[in-house]
Amino acid sequence: MNPLRLVPSVNDLLQNEKVISMIAYVGRDNIKTIIQEAINEIKQELLKLKATEAEDKMTFLTKEKLTEWVIRKAEVKIDEKDKNSLKKLINGTGIVLHTNMGRAPLSKRITDKLASVAGGYCNLEYSVEEGRRGSRYACVEELLVKMTGAESAVVVNNNAAAVYLCLHALANEKEVIVARSEQVEIGGSFRIPDIIKRSGAKMVEVGTTNKTYLTDFENAMTDETGLLLKVHKSNYRIEGFTSEVKGEELVSLAKQSGTILMEDVGSGVLIDLTKYGLPEEPTVASLVQKGIDVVTFSGDKLLGGPQAGIIVGKKEYIDLIKRNPMTRMVRIDKLSLIALEEVLHIYDKGIVDFEDLPAIDMLTMNETRLHEKADILLELMHGGLKDKGHFQKVECRDQPGGGSLPGAIMKGIAIAFWHDELSAAFIQKKLREHKIPIISIVHEERVILSLRTMDEKDFSEIVDALKGLLGENS
Ligand SMILES: *Cc1c(COP(=O)(O)O)cnc(C)c1O
Repeated sequence: MNPLRLVPSVNDLLQNEKVISMIAYVGRDNIKTIIQEAINEIKQELLKLKATEAEDKMTFLTKEKLTEWVIRKAEVKIDEKDKNSLKKLINGTGIVLHTNMGRAPLSKRITDKLASVAGGYCNLEYSVEEGRRGSRYACVEELLVKMTGAESAVVVNNNAAAVYLCLHALANEKEVIVARSEQVEIGGSFRIPDIIKRSGAKMVEVGTTNKTYLTDFENAMTDETGLLLKVHKSNYRIEGFTSEVKGEELVSLAKQSGTILMEDVGSGVLIDLTKYGLPEEPTVASLVQKGIDVVTFSGDKLLGGPQAGIIVGKKEYIDLIKRNPMTRMVRIDKLSLIALEEVLHIYDKGIVDFEDLPAIDMLTMNETRLHEKADILLELMHGGLKDKGHFQKVECRDQPGGGSLPGAIMKGIAIAFWHDELSAAFIQKKLREHKIPIISIVHEERVILSLRTMDEKDFSEIVDALKGLLGENS
């Protein structure tokens, strides 16, 4: 029988159980279009086959087989349409706070809280006690004040917004003095000189690229000076013949002249991470204690939480910021705020281990644990891949990422995978095309998967992906 006549119709397929479940996911009209496209393509292929001597092969084609073929094609089409939608991926790069991969992953404790609060109405800006409008910031302000020792706090959309807002609210039409060596570009076109200009303040640069002294700041002070700005060198270091003025050295100068002293620390840590083997970063509390008036930092860098910009400092300045109309434009959304509050509760409870803060857990993961994870993955690979391909435990260089801890490289452990017939670039691409994309690094013609940033729960997925790509190419 002519196989073209066996190709099912759109209406036939709409009764198929698999297609019915697709309808629930993407909608009936979309499915009709997709199935029609799939049917047309298959008919074209059959016609091509018919024109060649392959026609006898076609006698094996049954209605059931053709139905399956259409459905498979439709599934691929749905996946293609989904390629830009947000989805989980497996990060094998060893870069923990990967800005392109959402920076800090959130723990179950945090996502549970999100589900329970954001799944319905909540008291985002409603005082349950008083039965009327309340403050959006109340839920985190008290915790931030307690943990940093600052008088007051406010949170916004991200730290870039926090810096802009502070300058706009506190130094509009005034001069802002900043060291030349701290004219940072963070990426995504966030450049300190541009931000100062846009905020309405006038930038006064002092010092040279490599050296800045307290006297540079003193000499630059005028009646127009509104704010002294310190910016953390988050993503680079200046080494060699250097000198910089610490924020705390500017405290008395700022006090004498009645100028505001602000420090953008970028990452911002609430606890001392040197205990866990990480390079020194001043805690926000230590900066507040030394007399910095306003400190800004990110929610999703070394804090390990959601995207947010946190501003802590003297009450009079935080009040000015809260009252500034720009605050409404950069306000933090409900989802981030719920997550941020929970992160702060986790810190407040006292850190025993980092189970509830996955990003910090990964940053501080010791070698023993990395080896244990590597051994588990190796065993699964042996079981699943047998002698297909080569795999081996190797050392690698992990990074904090996200413009945190500049220059810090952490010794990591990885699985290197390679194959006699397939190039590393090909394997890397195939892993990326897996249904849960797996992101790897290629080094010396080997695919490297760093254990630090991969969750044990995903290991079987990695083995499945490798099995899949070897299966279709062997
Ligand atoms: C990362 C960073 C920012 C920007 O913070 P986001 O939360 O990414 O907006 C600003 N300043 C410094 C010093 C930073 O390191």
